[in-house]
Amino acid sequence: MDEMGEKVVSSAQLAARCAVNAAQVRKDLAYFGEFGIRGVGYYVKDLLQDIKRILGLNREWRMAVIGVGNLGSALLSYKDFLKQNYKIVAAFDIDPLKVIGRVSEKLGKPVEVLHMGRLKDVAKERKIEIGIITTPPSEAQDVANLLVGADIRGILNFAPTQIRVPEGYVVKDVLFTSVLDNLAYLLTN
Ligand code: NAD
Repeated sequence: MDEMGEKVVSSAQLAARCAVNAAQVRKDLAYFGEFGIRGVGYYVKDLLQDIKRILGLNREWRMAVIGVGNLGSALLSYKDFLKQNYKIVAAFDIDPLKVIGRVSEKLGKPVEVLHMGRLKDVAKERKIEIGIITTPPSEAQDVANLLVGADIRGILNFAPTQIRVPEGYVVKDVLFTSVLDNLAYLLTN
C-alpha cells in the first residue's frame, strides 16, 4: 500500500486483505501498543515501520549457510533474501575444495566457501547471527553444536532431524517433507 502511495488504511481494509475481521486486526495490533487514530485508521508508513520494529525486521540479519550442496548452493543464489534484509555473509562446508568449483559454476562467479574449522572466528568477525543448516541429517546436531559454540543464536534447520540447543538459542525447522505430506493428506481427503 505504501508503494502505491496510500497514506491511510482502516482496520476493515486491512482485515479484508488478510481475510480476517476488523476486530481481529485491532485486537492483534493492540497486543503491541496503541496504533492508529480512532475514526481515521492507521498511517500506512507508520504502521509499516511499527510492524517491522515489532518483528525485528527493521535491521539487517547476517546469516551463514552450513553445507554447500544442492540446497546450500541454491540458497546462496537466492537474491530475494536481500530485499528482506537477510544477508548471507559466509558459506561453510566440511570439504570446501569439493564444492567450491560446482557452486561457483552454478552462480556464475567465484564463491567463497570456508572450512568449518573457521566457523568460530569468522562468525565473530562477520557478526553472524543466524546459521542455516543444509548438511545431511546425520551431521545436523554436530553442526548445531558448533553454531552454539560460535555463539550464533538463531538456527534455520533444513535437515529432517530434530536438533537440540541450550536455552537462549532458537531453532526453526523447515519441514519440507512434512508440508508435502500435509498436502498429500489434504488432496487425499
Ligand atoms: P548435499 O549432499 O547435496 O549437500 C550437503 C553438503 O553438506 C555437502 O556439500 C557436504 O560436504 C556438506 N557437509 C556434510 N557434513 C558436513 C558437516 N559436518 N559440516 C559442514 N558441511 C557438511 O545435500 P542437499 O541435497 O543439499 O540437502 C541438504 C539437507 O537439506 C539434507 O539434510 C536434506 O535432507 C535437506 N533437504 C534437501 C532438499 C533438497 O531439495 N535438496 C529439500 C529439503 C530438505
